[in-house]
Amino acid sequence: MTTATGRNFIRGQWLNTDEVANDTDPGNGDVVGVLARATSDHVDEAVEAAHSASQEWADLPASARGAILRRAADELESDADEWGRLMTREMGKPFPESRVECVRAAAILRFFAGEGHRPYGEHYASDAPQTWLFTRRHPVGVVGIITPWNFPAAIPAWKLAPALLFGNTVVFKAADDAVLTGLRIVEALDRAGLPPGVLNAVVGRGSVVGAAIADHPAIDAISFTGSTETGRGILETASRTAKRVQLEMGGHNPVIVRSDAALDAAVAAVALGAFASAGQKCTATRRVYVARDLYDDFTEKLVAKATNMRVGYGLDEGVEMGPLVNDVQLQGVLEALERAEKEGQLRCGGKRLVDEPYERGSYMGPAVFTDLPHDAEFACEEVFGPNVAVWPVDHDDEAIELANSTKYDLSAAIFTRDLDAAKSFVERIRAGIVHVNSQTAGAEVHVPFGGLAGSGYGPHEQGRAAIEFYTTTKTVYLDPAG
Ligand code: NAD
Repeated sequence: MTTATGRNFIRGQWLNTDEVANDTDPGNGDVVGVLARATSDHVDEAVEAAHSASQEWADLPASARGAILRRAADELESDADEWGRLMTREMGKPFPESRVECVRAAAILRFFAGEGHRPYGEHYASDAPQTWLFTRRHPVGVVGIITPWNFPAAIPAWKLAPALLFGNTVVFKAADDAVLTGLRIVEALDRAGLPPGVLNAVVGRGSVVGAAIADHPAIDAISFTGSTETGRGILETASRTAKRVQLEMGGHNPVIVRSDAALDAAVAAVALGAFASAGQKCTATRRVYVARDLYDDFTEKLVAKATNMRVGYGLDEGVEMGPLVNDVQLQGVLEALERAEKEGQLRCGGKRLVDEPYERGSYMGPAVFTDLPHDAEFACEEVFGPNVAVWPVDHDDEAIELANSTKYDLSAAIFTRDLDAAKSFVERIRAGIVHVNSQTAGAEVHVPFGGLAGSGYGPHEQGRAAIEFYTTTKTVYLDPAG
């Protein structure tokens, strides 16, 4: 397998630095690439480059900016096999999931390319007789974009594309564990004709490079996706310089399974929601509240599904769950599960896989818990791995109250054939994304995406909602009579 270099991209140039680090494959410990880590001085250079490119980029017609996004989308889509393999090697997700994500990232770029030809701004009737009264949308300026490793193609795509289309310039920092996958979008945009300085990428640690972006006085807005703890720290830092901030953070997503649910479909959706991408999705299913009469059957079937899942290297045919992103992450998850075992019953998985063929990677078996107290750490805090807990419930009110009981409000699902129950759930559940008879994870590219409370801050992302964060509004009173 080849190794690649993760370099910094500033003013249209790819730059090495003095500090290098290995980017390793969590499935077998191989070196996937070498990363050239930046310092805060590189962030300063990147911000300066973004500022110098700002006016010319903002002056281009939006459709011309969109044409660049469209060309990049075409290249990325035709490269989805290779790009997907790189993603799997960097962060472990099975290749079919990686490939789908790459195609989706290209679709996101294409959606935002189309925004260049769609209406934005509004006309109003003025109280003054001659006046045309309308709003215009303008770029915010220089946007800092900080992304996690778990969707290393889709999340950069859904931030970079609207930022650029609406005329902003960008300083982008991808997560260390999947930086090469994120930089692939930068390469494609560069080849598609993006002028130098419009998009700059810095590689490096969150505590150095990410913190420098959050603190930089000449960055106007920050869009961040990652953990709630990091997000809140960024908000605190960014508010010192009164930046606009958008945060997409952790989740602890509930599913309710009512007595009238299609049982096998519910089990399949919970298994997919909990264990795809080794549970490393912000929208992963973590808690399941099952009607008492179905509880035993449901739990038995879920445990059987988890036990029979094929765990293995993400590039191998037929693998359903890959390794966790790295050993530190795996260790953290295993420790949280050990603590949970003192309070509840671990029904399957939850242990490190150490025998051949797993000994060189960060693998564990998918875990199902039962009999946990509702206020157990595991029932309230995000444990970012392949783990889910199940409880019996006696009625809808109890289920919805429990579903609403954590500090996170990202995604939630109900399984039922009763329309009234579904309607009541949609109205009462606290979540930014709600599913009826589908898994908690899963998002289409053209609709708003985002959480509430501890899961999100600021306007939602994706689709037409993205305009709210990436533009400012100017109200124009125009009297043509002069
Ligand atoms: P993380 O918070 O550790 O890191 C996210 C990004 O922030 C990385 O690029 C990291 O280098 C950077 N960073 C770290 N410390 C920083 C600092 N002090 N200042 C500035 N930047 C800093 O998160 P992660 O481990 O990469 O991702 C997993 C988390 O992301 C989970 O909590 C998951 O739920 C969340 N997530 C949320 C969404 C969503 O849309 N709500 C989507 C995907 C992931």
